Amino acid sequence: MSSVQRITVLGATGSIGLSTLDVIARHPEHYRVFALSGYSRLDELLALCLRHAPKFAVVPSAQAAEQLRAGLAAAGSATEVLEGEAGLCQVAAASEVDAVMAAIVGAAGLRPTLAAVEAGKKVLLANKEALVMSGALFMQAVQRSGAVLLPIDSEHNAIFQCLPGDYARGLSQVGVRRILLTASGGPFRETPAAELAQVSPEQACAHPNWSMGRKISVDSASMMNKGLELIEACWLFDARPSQVEVVVHPQSVIHSLVDYVDGSVLAQLGNPDMRTPIANALAWPKRIDSGVAPLDLFAIARLDFQAPDEQRFPCLRLARQAAEAGNSAPAMLNAANEVAVEAFLQRRIRFPQIASMIEQVLDQEPVVAVQTLDAVFAADQRARQLAGQWLNQHGC
Ligand code: NAD
Ligand code: MG
Repeated sequence: MSSVQRITVLGATGSIGLSTLDVIARHPEHYRVFALSGYSRLDELLALCLRHAPKFAVVPSAQAAEQLRAGLAAAGSATEVLEGEAGLCQVAAASEVDAVMAAIVGAAGLRPTLAAVEAGKKVLLANKEALVMSGALFMQAVQRSGAVLLPIDSEHNAIFQCLPGDYARGLSQVGVRRILLTASGGPFRETPAAELAQVSPEQACAHPNWSMGRKISVDSASMMNKGLELIEACWLFDARPSQVEVVVHPQSVIHSLVDYVDGSVLAQLGNPDMRTPIANALAWPKRIDSGVAPLDLFAIARLDFQAPDEQRFPCLRLARQAAEAGNSAPAMLNAANEVAVEAFLQRRIRFPQIASMIEQVLDQEPVVAVQTLDAVFAADQRARQLAGQWLNQHGC
């Protein structure tokens, strides 16, 4: 690896993508942008290309490519434009690339993220849905290719920092009793169950501590985000679902903890700003400045903890059940959730219907083994189809 690392940022126009570019721009002597991808905000992607001068930019369609090429040409930029999933996989696996930030949201990120893994890259994983959908295949690909998988999710990055370097020997081998996954509880932590049917997408997206994309914001509000993270933690750290306990911690200062058999509990703390885990993973095993302000414990003054309420937030229970069922269940959970979140954002369903729709989709379909990527996508498609039927049946 050369001293300057060349980075592909998949999902560059999103919240994680922009935070990544902010950290990269602080260290031009260490990092150079190789490729950027965007999906809908083409003007923003153009501005990012002009600022970071990547070799490639990737957009979803020929029409979008034409538009971006025109903007780049007018500005005298040499950035080349690629299209579609093939373009994403190409810039994820290119031989010149040292590290890939996987920050596309949802199932759309799976193939490009896997392409980076299969090419043996350093993979900075924000796109948790990719791992949730295809956990066993994904981790086998990491083993096979020698890719270095570094978690960007703040909780998983915290756990990674609190584990010893040889944790891959097995959690019990390194003395871990359990993982404590913290959750802010989201904007509806204290909202009575009866009022949840009236909450709006705007309220769901107004997270008290974190500024994030709309899909993960709704997931945080329903606590499906914590459910997806529970599954993510099981794959990343080879944990059983019963070894991962969710702890509601409204201040989002402790990003997660590891509980050891000798009674020691190690935690990672910091201001809720994704540039910390991004900088941690980019520079790992070194440390670099992320631009995040130092933690002011006196201003925070207190840290609170509560047990999660699975009555009001059934998505957490559904995700734990899917984690335990394994096989096709997490891919179906994820796909049904993606459809439900989109329907909620479009005001076609009410907030509590997110969980009921997912539960009914999962109840209709037996769990089957998924040994190929095609089988993963078949489970994903089946869940989307059932979710579509659910919307029709409910007149949404
Ligand atoms: P976002 O909505 O802000 O950005 C998503 C990015 O993906 C954008 O660049 C968009 O152009 C691209 N994209 C969307 N649909 C696409 C498609 N079909 N094909 C290709 N590209 C597409 O989302 P975000 O908040 O940055 O989250 C990105 C990922 O990181 C998610 O998986 C999320 O769960 C995870 N994550 C985010 C945060 C956070 O603080 N934002 C924290 C932890 C994990
Ligand atoms: Mg998280």
